[in-house]
Parts: sequence; C-alpha cells; structure tokens
Amino acid sequence: MKVTYLAHSGFLVEMKNACFLFDYYTGAIPELPKEKPLVVFVSHSHRDHYNREIYQLLSQYPGTQYVLAKDIPVKRLIAEQEAKGINLGEHIKSLRKDTKTMLPLWNHTLLTVTTLKSTDAGVAFLLEYENRILYHAGDLNLWYWEGESRQTHENMERTYRMELEKLREYSIDLAFVPLDPRLEGHAFDGMRLFLEYTDTKCTVPMHMWGDYGVVESFIERFPEYESKLIQITYEGQEFTVE
Ligand SMILES: [Zn+2]
Repeated sequence: MKVTYLAHSGFLVEMKNACFLFDYYTGAIPELPKEKPLVVFVSHSHRDHYNREIYQLLSQYPGTQYVLAKDIPVKRLIAEQEAKGINLGEHIKSLRKDTKTMLPLWNHTLLTVTTLKSTDAGVAFLLEYENRILYHAGDLNLWYWEGESRQTHENMERTYRMELEKLREYSIDLAFVPLDPRLEGHAFDGMRLFLEYTDTKCTVPMHMWGDYGVVESFIERFPEYESKLIQITYEGQEFTVE
C-alpha cells in the first residue's frame, strides 16, 4: 500500500486495486491511476476534514464514490452540485455510526465499510478490502481538554474505550489516529490507548496541526511503539506499507 500524507488528517492510500482518499481539506492530491476505482471518505463535516473540492474529482475520475458521514447534508449537496452540472446522487453513500456497508466498486471488487461513533462529530471508518484492514479515526479520540469537569473527562474516556473495544476483533494493517498537541499533558492518551487496545501493524499519527514534533515526543515517552509508528514530517510525504 502506498500512502501519501496530504495535510492534517488527509491521506491518500493506493492499494493494488483501488485508491482511498480520507478527510481531504487541503494539500495536493497526486495524479491517480485511472484504472483503479477511487473512494473518497469524509468522517465529518468540520472544516479541517472536509472540502467540497472533492466533488470535482468526479469529472477527472468518473466512477468515484463518496462515503460521507451522516452529518453532511446530502440532499442540499446534490442539488448544489447539480447546478454545476455534476450528477452526484448515485455516487454518494451517507453512513451513520455503527453500520456495516458493502460497497461494490466498478472493477468488481468489494469494499466493506464499518463505522464507529466519533467522540467528536461524525464517524470513524474501518475498511476491509482484499485481505487488508484499514482504519481512519476521523476525530474519534480521547479529547481531554484542560478546564473541563472530571465528569466530562470520565465520560469521554469511557466512550472512547467503548469504541476501541469494537476494534479488538480486527487485525488492522494500517491505521490513522489523532495525536493532537493542543491537548498538552493529555496529547498522548488517545494514541496510547489505541495502541494498547488494538492489534495494529502500522499506525500513522494525524491531526497534528503541523506540529510534527509531537510524534517524536510520543516515541520518547513510549519507545515500545516506535516500530509501529510512522513519523510524518511534511505535507506530501509518501511511504509504503506492506
Ligand atoms: Zn478535527
């Protein structure tokens, strides 16, 4: 699998027979192989995860499919794009939390998408495709903000652990998980729990707001996870995962 880091939580993953684009909001999308179906995922509608430019990909790659979290209002979107001459309707799947959906791609391969409930907005995605399992957390994280009540923190941690519990049965090949330096003293909590709960071969930290030093700090604190983490250091970075 070839991975390109676009920006923030935006990644492109090129598999043997399909391409997956996650949470694009800015950065340069490389030229994609036209012989592979493209599936575009949006975990929720927040500005740092969603940019309507993604719908223009449909003119370049006609079979593109969009998998959108339910908080993106689809009807209005379809009408808007229709006014621009883009017929989106049949290309969109709108998914709520805790669903499992089979998505046949135009090259007759099958993608299975399972959604988890985010602790912020929208969903996280678990993809099963040709013997590979991928996970993109969106904003599913342990959000522990200074100044919030102890009760809020406890609820947050309980909800987060409940979602991670659902991942236990999977052997994940590649995961994208938030590591947000704004959480300061609690920045590592969500990532650490993810690594503890799941059996994941390769984890890519994201949602770092350009502050890539947080990965190094995490590894200094938890050196046992170094071999499982990819160090993102610049937009446009490419790497390969088996
Ligand atoms: Zn976000």
